[in-house]
Amino acid sequence: MADCLFCKIIEGEVPSDKLYDDDLVVVILDINPRAPRHFLVIPREHIGTVKDVRGEHGPLLTRMFVAASNVAKDEGIAESGFRMTFNVGDDAGMTVNHLHMHVLGGRQLGPEG
Ligand code: AMP
Ligand code: ZN
Repeated sequence: MADCLFCKIIEGEVPSDKLYDDDLVVVILDINPRAPRHFLVIPREHIGTVKDVRGEHGPLLTRMFVAASNVAKDEGIAESGFRMTFNVGDDAGMTVNHLHMHVLGGRQLGPEG
């Protein structure tokens, strides 16, 4: 999608630190990490937000969770624990309107919110 940062990252038009990619998802380091390990799991398909998810996205969502779990293992946070977050809308501080899962770990994260 034109003018979408994550679409540009997926197309390679904007550089990123890629940890993993396959036919459905791309995993990159967050440019502004809020934990010692902070990466983003991004579907190649442009889906705006969680509100745009439909039944047919089931296999894609499964792949996002499997990729998150595998990269968490690679990054050494699978045993200590990690948090997976989807921001939706202004109150959540969503800044990029292309569905993505944050994965954070490597420290005690404290309560949500
Ligand atoms: P959200 O606030 O949920 O929309 O998350 C967007 C995330 O994208 C933020 O955590 C940003 O730090 C991150 N971000 C913005 N630009 C880039 C970029 N060029 N490469 C990697 N992460 C980015
Ligand atoms: Zn996009």
